[in-house]
Amino acid sequence: MSDNQNHEEIKEKDVLEATQTVIKKALDKLGFQDEVYELMKEPLRMMTVRIPVRMDDGSIEIFTGYRAQHNDAVGPTKGGVRFHPGVTEKEVRALSIWMSLKAGIMDLPYGGGKGGIVCDPRQMSFREIERLSRGYVRSISQIVGPTKDIPAPDVFTNSQIMAWMMDEYSRMKEFDSPGFITGKPLVLGGSHGRESATAKGVTICIREAAKKKGMTVEGSKVVIQGFGNAGSFLAKFLHDAGAKVVGISDVNGGLYDPEGLDIDYLLDRRDSFGTVTNLFNDVLSNKELIEQECDILVPAAIENQITEKNAHKINASIVVEAANGPTTMGATKILHERDILLVPDVLASAGGVTVSYFEWVQNNQGYYWEEEEVETKLEKKMTASFENVYRLASLRNVDMRLAAYMVGVRKMAEASRYRGWI
Ligand code: GLU
Repeated sequence: MSDNQNHEEIKEKDVLEATQTVIKKALDKLGFQDEVYELMKEPLRMMTVRIPVRMDDGSIEIFTGYRAQHNDAVGPTKGGVRFHPGVTEKEVRALSIWMSLKAGIMDLPYGGGKGGIVCDPRQMSFREIERLSRGYVRSISQIVGPTKDIPAPDVFTNSQIMAWMMDEYSRMKEFDSPGFITGKPLVLGGSHGRESATAKGVTICIREAAKKKGMTVEGSKVVIQGFGNAGSFLAKFLHDAGAKVVGISDVNGGLYDPEGLDIDYLLDRRDSFGTVTNLFNDVLSNKELIEQECDILVPAAIENQITEKNAHKINASIVVEAANGPTTMGATKILHERDILLVPDVLASAGGVTVSYFEWVQNNQGYYWEEEEVETKLEKKMTASFENVYRLASLRNVDMRLAAYMVGVRKMAEASRYRGWI
């Protein structure tokens, strides 16, 4: 729990400012004027809603929700909705900017959006979560839609929640609207490969980063912080690829075994929120886990895990950010100086939104692809984007994060200019 408290304390002041600082640097490096930064430093639209929900005991609880739309110059905005007690308005604003960057890096025809509801789904019943999900859609219905802003899953939201949200929207608009939201179950117009897409993208980035370092995934020791959607699929993919997964963690703590963990057993025993360490006695803290010796470290949980306080203790050659914002700016600098290759979140975790885009395309055309087609297309896009960012980083002698931001903002800045906004 103390990890969480620290996280709440630093999250507020760090995440948005850090993003803005890197955006400013990226725009400066690209030679854009200050007014471009003024436009991009905040979302264009931000909606706060209060959602009354009838709880199972008959009482009414009022939940607060947000939807941020960062920039729609390139196309409709797109991004997930998180259900978490620590959601803040400021965090949602920052996350919407990251979604714009991901869309830019992966060359998707979208701008960034993000939503969040302050709630703890772990303490709520199935039906309470349904009523909250439907209430959220009713509250934000004016600003979202298949050609305006397309939500998706994020922390503690899943395909069932997407199904309820899609159903609510379709009922309100009185036509079936599968393209309103992505991350749906397959039978409701979801895409093959969407559930594991973030982890697939991270796996591709790990493979490409390993190549650059003259290493191979096979035989590498990997520590994964987080065992939620991204972390658990990732553990499986890396284990299947012959890597030795020596560490994993959940919100309560971490497991580490230099000989490799029994991933199949852990996957089998995790609950739907990714909790598994409660079954063990010998548990490290999350802080201790990320300092353990390994070749590849993957923070796949929450923000601000690698900071100036522990960056010099990181014991890996490659850090690949599967979570949003796990490394602070100060820590990014330290890792760069220590010649640790850091693949930033806006690139590494962009597999999810990329397959969301494929899902939306399939919904729009009403023609559904086989899993192989999704995988080939993701593989192609992710490898190209990695190479693009890596090459720019080498060419301009900057770290991968700054290079990724440069790629991420460029199209949005040019589109905003063509539209005459700046
Ligand atoms: N929530 C995911 C992300 O942060 C996916 C968003 C989407 O699929 O639109 O990238």
